[in-house]
Formats: sequence, C-alpha cells, structure tokens
Amino acid sequence: MANKGTIGVTTENIFPVIKKFLYSDHEIFLRELVANAVDATQKMKALALSGDCKEELGDLSVRIELDPDARTLKIIDRGIGMTEEEVDKYINQIAFSSAGEFLEKYKDQISNIIGHFGLGFYSAFMVADKVTIDTLSWKEGAKAVKWSCDGSPEYEISESDKTGRGTVITLYIGEDEKEFAEKGRIQGLLDKYCKFMPVPVIFGKEQEWKDGKYVDTDKDNVINKIEPLWTKKPSEIKPEEYMEFYRALYPMQDEPLFYIHLNVDYPFHLTGILYFPKIKDRMELTRNKIQLYCNQMFVTDSVENIVPDFLTLLHGVIDSPDIPLNVSRSYLQSDANVKKISGYITRKVADRLEEIFKNEREALESKWDNLKLFIEYGMLSDEKFCERAMKFCLLKNTEGKYSSIDDYRKAIEGEQTDKDKKVVFLYATDPVAQYPYVEAARKKGYDVLLMDCQLDAHFVNLLETKIENSRFARVDSDSIDNLIPKEEKIRPELSAQDKSDLDVIFKSVLPSENNYYVNAENLGENMSPILITQSEFMRRYRDMSSLGGGLNFYGEMPESYNITVNMQNPLILKIMGAKAEAFAGKEVADPVAELPEGASEDQKKEAESKKEAAVEARNSELKEFAEGNEILKQVTDLALLANGMLKGKSLSDFISRSEQVVADAYLK
Ligand code: ADP
Repeated sequence: MANKGTIGVTTENIFPVIKKFLYSDHEIFLRELVANAVDATQKMKALALSGDCKEELGDLSVRIELDPDARTLKIIDRGIGMTEEEVDKYINQIAFSSAGEFLEKYKDQISNIIGHFGLGFYSAFMVADKVTIDTLSWKEGAKAVKWSCDGSPEYEISESDKTGRGTVITLYIGEDEKEFAEKGRIQGLLDKYCKFMPVPVIFGKEQEWKDGKYVDTDKDNVINKIEPLWTKKPSEIKPEEYMEFYRALYPMQDEPLFYIHLNVDYPFHLTGILYFPKIKDRMELTRNKIQLYCNQMFVTDSVENIVPDFLTLLHGVIDSPDIPLNVSRSYLQSDANVKKISGYITRKVADRLEEIFKNEREALESKWDNLKLFIEYGMLSDEKFCERAMKFCLLKNTEGKYSSIDDYRKAIEGEQTDKDKKVVFLYATDPVAQYPYVEAARKKGYDVLLMDCQLDAHFVNLLETKIENSRFARVDSDSIDNLIPKEEKIRPELSAQDKSDLDVIFKSVLPSENNYYVNAENLGENMSPILITQSEFMRRYRDMSSLGGGLNFYGEMPESYNITVNMQNPLILKIMGAKAEAFAGKEVADPVAELPEGASEDQKKEAESKKEAAVEARNSELKEFAEGNEILKQVTDLALLANGMLKGKSLSDFISRSEQVVADAYLK
C-alpha cells in the first residue's frame, strides 16, 4: 500500500527556489549523489570490517546508468541501503529540512554563497522533474522501499521490487536540463568530480572503434583511481610517480620544479601534494589551479580563501574533510580551521624549500630563475613566509652566481660598506643597457646583483627593510663614488652665481622634456666630464607605480635626472674657463640689495622686477653661450648617448659634428 505524506518544509515550495538560486551550479547534483552512494558503500565496508555484517559484500562499485531517450539517469550503489524509517528520517525530515534551513539562512545574500556546497540529496531537483529512490537495507529482514517525489512538497512511499542490497536513485531529467541526459556531459562531470573517489565509479562500458563506429566492449568504463597518490605514504612513493601524477592532473604543463607531500592528522586532517610549477607567463597562472578535495571528492579549484594568495601559484591537490564547504566566502576567511590550514601549508612550503636549500643546493640554483617569482611574491605578501624565506632565498649577481642573502652580505661587506656603516647592495635591472655602470662598479671591486624580475622594484624595498644596516642602489643611480661613499668628500667650491650659471648652461643643451638637477662634483680628472643618473628613490617609486600600487602620482611626472658635472675634468675646466672669460665684469646688478633702509613697497617692487629682468638677460646670454660652445654640446651628447637618451635630430647633429671633429683631427 502506498503511503503519502508532506515533507516537513518551511518554505512553501522549495524546488523553484533551489532551481533559481543555484542556476549556475546545477552540475553539482551528480557529485552529491555519487558522494552519497560512496558514503553508503564505505559504511557497508566498515560494517563488514567490524563484524556487524557477516554477509558477502560482492561487487561494491557505484554504477551510473543513462538512458538518453527516456532522459533517466540512475545512480546505483551496493551500500547499506535504507529501511522505510530511515527514508522517512533521512530523506523526508533531515535532508529536506537542512536544505530548507540553508536557503532560509542565505536567501538575503545569495551572491555571497560559495558556488560549491553540499546541498545533498535534494540538489537532484535542480535537474530532475521527478526523483525516485529504490532501496533495500542491509539489515536482516528489511523490506525494499520505493520513495518518489515530483518536486512538490508531497512524496509517496511504497513497496519496491528491488531485490539486492543498496540504493538506486533515478532522476527524470527535466526538459530545461536535457544537457544532463547527454552521455558526453555526464562523462565530463564524472571526470571532473569523481576522478579520485575511493570506491570504483562505473559509467557504461569502454568503447572501441569497429567497422566505422564506436561500439561498447565488455570492459567497464571505470571513471576513477580509488587510491590516488596523495592517500599513500610518502615513503612508499617514487619520485617518478609524483611526476606521473602531475602529468595526469595537468596534461599540457612542463615538468614541475619541486613537490611537497602534505600529511597531517592533528589538529585537523589534511593530505595532498603540491607542486612548484615552472612559471612562464601570467596566463598559465590562472589556468591551472590547486584542486581541493573532500575525502577524495572534488570540491573546487577556487582555493583563494583557503590558502594564502601566493600559494595559489602552486599546483596540485589538497584533500581535507575539515574545510567547511557550505558557507559563504567571507565566513570561510574567518574560520579557525581554515586559518590553521593556511598557516600549516605555508609552514610546510617553507620547510620544504629550506630542506631543498640545505640538501639540493645545486638543483635549487638551476631552477631558481623559474622559482624566483613565486618566492618573491610569497615574501612580499606573507610576513611569516618572508621570515622563513630570508634563509633560503637566493640572490643572483650579474655574472650568474647565486648566493644566500647572508652569504652575499658577508661577501660584499668588506668592500661595499659606506662611511655610515651601511652595506650597499648594488644591482642592475638590465646589465646590457647599464653596462658602463656595471663595469665601473666591477673595476672598483664591487659586485652587482641582477634584479630583472617583474616584482624586483618591490622586492628591493622589502630586502632593505629586512637586512639590517643595508641600502640598495641601482648601479646607474649615481657616480660609483657616490653610490658607496667612503669618506666625506670635498665638494668643489662654487659661488652662488657659478652654480646658477652651471644650471642654465646645461639645461640649455639637454633635451627639454625632462627635469634636471645639475650639480657639481669632484670626480677626478680622469673621470667622465658628465654623468647622467636617475635617483634611486625617484626611479623606484616610478617603477612601483607602473606595477600598480597607488603611487600613480610618480608615474605621471616627467622623468628626472641628475646631471653630475665633474669639475676636475679638463674639458669642463675649459668650458668654465670660456664662460668666465665671456662674462668677465658682467656681474648681475642687484637693485634689491642696494635699496635704502625704509624703502617703500613700490620701490621694493620696482627693484625686484629690475633684478628679475637682469637675471633673465644674463640667462639668455648664457643660453646663447652654451648653444655656441662645441665642447659643451659634444660632451653632453656623449653622456646622453651613454644612457640611450640621444635621439632624432640631436643624434644626427651629434654625428655630423663628430664627423667634423674626426676630419679636423686626422685630415689636417
Ligand atoms: P548528507 O549526505 O549531507 O547527510 P543528504 O541529503 O545527501 O545529506 O543525505 C541525507 C541522508 O540520506 C544521508 O546522510 C544518508 O543517511 C541518506 N542517504 C542518502 N543517499 C543514500 C544512499 N545512496 N544510500 C544510503 N543512504 C543514503
């Protein structure tokens, strides 16, 4: 006799609600149903193991059967089954009420709901108009039960003709959802969610190509590997097996650099294998991700809130029953277990890298260039990781030699400590473009690091704060003596007028689009007449703003350069001599200084404007002088050329001028 009843539900009709709210993730129904079937099977195994059930267990595979024409999908297991009371308790009351509660709780913040959560058995109604359960409990004397429900809160329970132990769930796929009655779609979902479930999951038969078409063989099409690598003991796994597993997860990827096997029982359960991939471009970073499993059931590959940001660059799998899945993302971040897990993984990654640093130094060095971005990102974004990484992080110099931070500091300390007892780390971002500066540093016996990675502008800042008493300077940011000043230097003595003249003269012959700070130094008579550099500070902020980070203000300013004029260079002396001659006796009158005491406001104003006019007149004469001075033009252009800044007309003028100089020198 059929039994009718109404499901204890608070929402009037929950099914349209389920469908509407979860539209983007209808496909998870299959994972939920297969997971239930696997659970029931595992429980059966446990009963047999404990001796509570003495019956022969037989084949325990979970089978999926699809009839595309009838649009029915069956999930069949040989697990513990359910008695009528159990169906009433688990299906009618508990499962339904938890689905109801769930929706009740989250109906105001639907957009926050994590895409993947266990809605359990009732998620079947996302795709089916009608669902039936045929089940026979393992318990002695149990009667087979049939439960059916067409999506209204009414269900029906009757006797079933099912004979063997276990459960058959039949879905009558709805018209709107008919994609789920397609073989390819179901195969795809099983591959995605069930590839590593712990009980064999079988979907029809394997096929072969015969007489111009695919036909079924008599071999079962088994979806999953029931003992994926991460469930085994690390001591029993060969390195090749880790690589093989990686290839199975990410078929098109290059070999990973290193791997870590995670295995923890307390205070939470977590297993998994993480790989450090070869990072080639950003695209790849977003394509392949860490996969999160819960008891070998695929849950998601958006692990953003579970592992720290920089670890999302890793590949591999994490399996933990302790990560709450049916909650919103914001909640996940504050979950105590998730925090612990994230801390644990970070620690393990650091442990492993330290171990590689200690025991496989050569391998680490050979793979460092591909690993560097990951480590730097980790150090920049995670304080704890940074602390650890200071030990195993490598620095590479412009000659391709790698050292740990500590060793490097020790190696350069002797030569590269400045007068304020700071160790100066010199670096180049482009050793070819910065060649003259790198050479100048080497000649002094200094070492130059290579910092050519996307994150290095930020990374240099970070290292400066982490390495005590250190300073980082790009080789071309000043003259080599100024980069690592050893003693208070003796500056050239110039009058205010000379200084101002120098400024005007050089600005007259430099490209007008930039800002310049002209300063006089004594660099020695054999050193270049002019050095063009960009201050470490300005350049660093500009670099960082181009990487983003709220410093756009610096990015929009014109480029600024320091023009260091070597007052001991004979050519400069000659230019200054010529200037002194041309302007002899032409001091700028200063009517302001000559004002009598108690002068009126009007008198002051008049004096000031007279002074301004006098300065302007001198400056335009200076400009004329500068533009007519061949030596000045030639040395400035050479300095620009050394920095790749001489372009267009200036460059071609320079070449004709130089040809003339050569002709004058050789043909006369
Ligand atoms: P959950 O699996 O999260 O408990 P479900 O709604 O998926 O929630 O299922 C509710 C209950 O119904 C399960 O806990 C289980 O007791 C029972 N159940 C569901 N599917 C099966 C099955 N295939 N075999 C035996 N029991 C099942």
